[in-house]
Amino acid sequence: MSQKRLTGVAVSPGRASGPVVRVAEPLGEPPSTPSPEDPHAEAARIAPAAQAVVTRLETLAESATGDAATILQTTAAMAGDPALVSQAEQLVATERLPAARAIFQAADGFAKALAAAGGYLAERVRDIEDVRDRIVAELLGVTPPGVPELTGPSVLVARDLAPADTAGLDPKQVLALVTEEGGPTSHTAILARALGIPAVVAVRGVLELDAEALAVDGDAGAVEVADPDAPVVAATASGPVAWDGAGRTADGHRVKVLGNVGSASDARAAAEAGAEGVGLFRTEFCYLDAPAEPDVAAQRTAYAAVLAPFRGKPVIVRTLDAGADKPLAFLSPEDEPNPALGVRGVRIAFDRPDVLDRQLEAIAGAAAESGAEVSVMAPMVATAAEAAWFAERVRAAGIARAGVMIEIPAAALATAEILAEVDFVSVGTNDLAQYTFAADRQLGAVAALNDPWQPALLRLLGAVGDAAEATGKPAGVCGEAAADPLLARVLTGLGLTSLSMNAAAVRAVGASLAEVTFEQCAAAARAALAAPDPAAAKAAVRAATS
Ligand code: PEP
Ligand code: MG
Repeated sequence: MSQKRLTGVAVSPGRASGPVVRVAEPLGEPPSTPSPEDPHAEAARIAPAAQAVVTRLETLAESATGDAATILQTTAAMAGDPALVSQAEQLVATERLPAARAIFQAADGFAKALAAAGGYLAERVRDIEDVRDRIVAELLGVTPPGVPELTGPSVLVARDLAPADTAGLDPKQVLALVTEEGGPTSHTAILARALGIPAVVAVRGVLELDAEALAVDGDAGAVEVADPDAPVVAATASGPVAWDGAGRTADGHRVKVLGNVGSASDARAAAEAGAEGVGLFRTEFCYLDAPAEPDVAAQRTAYAAVLAPFRGKPVIVRTLDAGADKPLAFLSPEDEPNPALGVRGVRIAFDRPDVLDRQLEAIAGAAAESGAEVSVMAPMVATAAEAAWFAERVRAAGIARAGVMIEIPAAALATAEILAEVDFVSVGTNDLAQYTFAADRQLGAVAALNDPWQPALLRLLGAVGDAAEATGKPAGVCGEAAADPLLARVLTGLGLTSLSMNAAAVRAVGASLAEVTFEQCAAAARAALAAPDPAAAKAAVRAATS
């Protein structure tokens, strides 16, 4: 057996091994040419293709249980809908379309009608698109796109996954995740960590790797061809770290240790891990799959479920951060050449203040219902004027505390002016790194530039810490930088006042801060700022705080 080993960027800890399941790439729209020579014969291919999809889904449903079985049965029923097949057959007959194009167009007609109906029916749009892609793949003789139904514990290998795909993964079935693309701060990495699935991204060559089974080391960032007959190894969680639950240094300098959440189950996990509150609730994670804007009542219910474990504790709710790598179907801007530099985050709210106002109404309602101490912050703010615009709307909605994220270098450099308009700031180091280094956070090739230990990034964080100190207002960090126990000491030394992270990191970060004095943190910060590169910064900080 070959012992081929590849390396990438370790983004979610743990080791696991097992059989490989590959995630097929999107198919794209099937072409409407060439027209079939025999439309009758072409139309006759559609019903058997749909039936093949029905049979496959029903077989999978038999071996699945619970929600998964119900979803598979419902999808099978949609694939077998005679109206879909007959509309596609008619399109072949009347418009002389190839069968794959005909089923694509017929399904799109259904999807549009469902979306227009709104409510529960609109939620079925994704299902009809799934059925469409499966029948198209059957007609073209290729593997259907997306994450396949897993019949047993597997290592998933993909070019990259959409956040919606990653959020839907079942940690009991997915042993580990390996992607050819992606960086340490991509949303796939963030969601894998939240789900506790070991993951390595930016593994160049993994798509070409001829392997039936893989061993994945999510700590070292290594992927190795494994024996397909060896027993499956699931990741085991590391033992609990001792921490008393109060975020502070050994000499009592207070730094709140908070959780990053995107769902009610994340919130429960953060509370169980001992988070003192929530420093970032990514509300868009509730709607990655939503075809239409949920109404105020539905939003209020969703938010209240996330706030529930934090009665009497601080929770920062971020307004929708749609766009770039987190597209929301109901808030997509026009096609843009550079979506990460386009209309995303709060910029969408400038065009659609009605959507923001409805969200604020829902947040205010959920806050009152849950008893959590809720603040609201905006993503992707660039200037103090934008911060002032946002804060005014938040206060008009009856929410007492308004803040903004510092994710754009210009905002980091204007933190003092921004803090004059709002109650707090929180640094999104994932985006701040991508914009500082002009390095796409989804791209494996530039992953090293998105390392939060980069001294240039730390200098911007230092500027934010200085402004916080000068104005006496809080400045947290809620990007992935905050989840690194050693870097947490540097951030504290730079003057940041709270750190927010995925549940799995909470105890380790709390314990790391409790072991050192504030003066050691300040020395660590000075050492990191003076270092030439991330490796040297890490070594200098280890020396300064050991
Ligand atoms: C960030 O950019 O660091 C951040 C916390 O926001 P997100 O990762 O959701 O873009
Ligand atoms: Mg961000």
